[in-house]
Amino acid sequence: MNYCPQCGDKTQSVIPEGDNRLRDVCPSCGSIHYQNPRIIAGCVPVWEDKVLLCKRAINPREGFWTLPAGFMELDETTEQAAVRETLEEANAVVAVDQLYAVFNLPHINQVYIMYRATLLKPEFSSGVESLETRLFEEHEIPWDDLAFETIRLSLECFFQDRQLGTFKFRATDITKPTLR
Ligand SMILES: [Zn+2]
Repeated sequence: MNYCPQCGDKTQSVIPEGDNRLRDVCPSCGSIHYQNPRIIAGCVPVWEDKVLLCKRAINPREGFWTLPAGFMELDETTEQAAVRETLEEANAVVAVDQLYAVFNLPHINQVYIMYRATLLKPEFSSGVESLETRLFEEHEIPWDDLAFETIRLSLECFFQDRQLGTFKFRATDITKPTLR
């Protein structure tokens, strides 16, 4: 952050008294502008034995398939965010079944919170952020054309658990691939 959102003056990167990290501090008004991870909420929407995926109409990863998920808004819960994102991206109404997975992505300062959910009826269409929406059986999942690692892992866990007959919550850390 280069300029103070409070007063518009130029900020400085300093460690405030009593703190141990560099922060963007405004020398004019004294505001400390903390930056924290962003939360993305989404779900694995299921109808019978199929999962609803959306083909992204926006970057990053335009043209790749994703589960409905997006940044939380203020004044909503993670569950409400997951339901809202599914409505926005796929015009689909879901009931949340279970908190299913948390993914920490510290290298990009994101936390994913994924639920399992059930479509209330098999009705969906592309929202403005989607090029296409459709239900996939397990063998139809476009594994090579998924948008993000979090989406691939969510789907892998879902199909593994479904085969075992029991769904269990997982927390997974996805760290930056090591450069060679
Ligand atoms: Zn300021």
